[in-house]
Amino acid sequence: MNAIKPLKEYNQEELQELVKSWGEKPFHGKQIFAALFRRGIKSIDEMTDLSLNLRGLLADYFPLDLLEPVELQRATDKAAKVLFRLRDGEFIESVWMPEVSHAVQCLSTQVGCPLDCSFCATGKMGFVRNLTRGEIVDQILVFRREHNDPPLRNVVFMGMGEPLLNYDNLVQAIRILSHSNGLALSQRRMTVSTAGIVPGIEKLADEGLHVKLAVSLNAPTDDLRDKLMPINKKYPIADIIAAAIRFQKKNGFRVTFEYALMPGVNDTPEMIRKLKSWVIQVPSKLNLIPINPIGEQGPSNANWDEIFDRFYHVFQKEKVTLTMRRSRGAEIQAACGQLAGKK
Ligand code: SF4
Repeated sequence: MNAIKPLKEYNQEELQELVKSWGEKPFHGKQIFAALFRRGIKSIDEMTDLSLNLRGLLADYFPLDLLEPVELQRATDKAAKVLFRLRDGEFIESVWMPEVSHAVQCLSTQVGCPLDCSFCATGKMGFVRNLTRGEIVDQILVFRREHNDPPLRNVVFMGMGEPLLNYDNLVQAIRILSHSNGLALSQRRMTVSTAGIVPGIEKLADEGLHVKLAVSLNAPTDDLRDKLMPINKKYPIADIIAAAIRFQKKNGFRVTFEYALMPGVNDTPEMIRKLKSWVIQVPSKLNLIPINPIGEQGPSNANWDEIFDRFYHVFQKEKVTLTMRRSRGAEIQAACGQLAGKK
């Protein structure tokens, strides 16, 4: 068993310290960081800007990759779902969605999830463990070697797991993804999606990052939300809205509320009016998501346009942008709430 910490678990400053501890000049740490995260190298031999001696010292760190792609499924809308095997044999999934000029990748932050939302395949797995920062970042590095057309521009932390319950690794991964010597992705194009972990939202507001926040709301009353998302018993809707207001005031971006449409459950006139009373408190967008069947369950033939019109009618005079996102990749179980890391 190799007890050495993998190189992709280091940030630039830590790599500088590491090479310094070997009696080498700290700037080699910057070269290694750029090779790993900007160039996305696969092998230490590709670091030809380092001396043979230094490359020899790094040899113990091979292999560099923290995850291995084992299966790729492509939907007819070109969305792709990749199944990765982690070094300890666990599996996670990541989804890549091409737009016209750029791509969006949806990253996982945990193996499984402890929150057990009733509509979610990941929740049904239970919680296994947090991903490390390197494992979060490597979902992009490994995937983009083969698939970078169109190039990746947006990142959403909306895959398996609750990102704010893996707070430190999430933040460290964001810093590597946005580091000018790393992947140099814009923080403004990263969205952290949460089921409503209030202390995590508050901490993220103070973190000094410029990322966006999405809250998976899904129900406008605590009674219903307690049933759909048990974490609501700990952090009820009023507390989530207060945290979202604070986040929005602090970083200026509108908050996105995700609302999975469950016909007959959360789309009655009373529910829509109650939803409005919460959402209008925050400069925000409301994203309606037709719920996706998990396996055989779930509605598949609802009249989504008619449902959208009902919401539109209630929200049309408000300063809330209302959208309906047809989830991508539903037939390959790559849409919201469907990731389950199955092999
Ligand atoms: S919806 Fe998100 S928070 Fe809820 S169980 Fe699934 S992965 Fe976890």
